[in-house]
Amino acid sequence: MIKLFLAGAAIILTSTGLYAQEKKTMKPEETEVWEPVPTAITPGTATASAPSDAIILFNGKSLDQWQGEKEGAAKWLVKEGAVTVVKGAGGIKTKELFNDFQLHIEWRAPAVVQGDGQGRGNSGIFMQGIYELQVLDNYNNRTYSNGQAGSFYKQKIPLVNACKKPGQWQSYDVIWTAPRFNEDGSLKSPARATVLHNGVLVQNNVELEGPTEYIGKPVYKKHGEGPISLQDHGNPVSYRNIWIRKL
Ligand code: MG
Repeated sequence: MIKLFLAGAAIILTSTGLYAQEKKTMKPEETEVWEPVPTAITPGTATASAPSDAIILFNGKSLDQWQGEKEGAAKWLVKEGAVTVVKGAGGIKTKELFNDFQLHIEWRAPAVVQGDGQGRGNSGIFMQGIYELQVLDNYNNRTYSNGQAGSFYKQKIPLVNACKKPGQWQSYDVIWTAPRFNEDGSLKSPARATVLHNGVLVQNNVELEGPTEYIGKPVYKKHGEGPISLQDHGNPVSYRNIWIRKL
């Protein structure tokens, strides 16, 4: 807490007050990082069917395990073993909540390339509903490095660019350790993540600074278990073979 004494009057700003103030004055561009540019590599062909102790979150047939991010049913399109973002339907999230886990998920950017930068095949996978592992078609598509596929949005640049061509199925495997909080709400230990993109290490036990933010800097706020949620960013990105193991 910061106290400012101005002309005899005390103004007290809480940290959340300062945060709100900063958010208002900051621009999205201020948290974009464009260098270094992760080297583009060609990944191998990795597939991962679920082990016997996994919870199957999406088996290609139904969204029984999912609901709308805001409210109601998950209104994305299930077809031919995949689920696809329906523009304007909003994000979807799992009914079940998670803390520490291993997640496998496959995604596909539209084969027909439309838009560029952040507007091309954008979606996202949110750990515990608030930490976004970016989904973006970054095959020959430059954007800010901390916002490309395999990044934790605006926090962690991926080690390499392991993107496959648009229209091809890609995978993420995530080992997630949830943040821990003290009883007074302060941070005990930050969230940690390891991510493989198409079987290639892109995040090596990184420490997150807080929930991922479009504008302004991340700030941790005490929370418990959270869902896996998928972002509707207006592009028809598809998902399949989603499974998770609680740790
Ligand atoms: Mg996104």
